[in-house]
Amino acid sequence: MAQAEKTLNDLFLEVLKDMYSAEKQILRALPKMSKVSESEELARAFEKHREETEGQIERIEQVFEMMDKPARAKTCEAMKGIVQEANEVAQEFKSSEALDACLIAAAQTVEHYEITRYGTLKSWATQLGLDDAAKLLDRSLEEEKKTDKLLTQFAEQQANAKAA
Ligand code: FE
Ligand code: FE
Ligand code: FE
Repeated sequence: MAQAEKTLNDLFLEVLKDMYSAEKQILRALPKMSKVSESEELARAFEKHREETEGQIERIEQVFEMMDKPARAKTCEAMKGIVQEANEVAQEFKSSEALDACLIAAAQTVEHYEITRYGTLKSWATQLGLDDAAKLLDRSLEEEKKTDKLLTQFAEQQANAKAA
């Protein structure tokens, strides 16, 4: 029987390492997104989320600590792909009226990935009896959801019409 000794605990750690990598990639991408945003307001929203992302990275580090494990990232290939695709499309729409709509769509792709990951990690932490970890993960989950909603609002109230 292959890998019969693997448990939910191992799976939790595996995905935590994936999210640690994903958040670090996002932390590097957000200042660039802020810099190229046409709208001041969008630029500030990206900057604010960059600050939140620093806190989310710290929370992940706290969860590693709670589990007596070293904080280690394992490259999130999904986030690499999302960021790469965003870069390519942003390049194509550079200095167009549709650039902000393009940046928002890319950012929401990131938020949705994070929402699914934090949702899963939170459920697993609860199942594993890691209640303090579940609380930390829930705080990050709520920040991602809030960011996603803000981006939808901004797109529907401003960026989409500007791009049309
Ligand atoms: Fe995040
Ligand atoms: Fe991943
Ligand atoms: Fe986020």
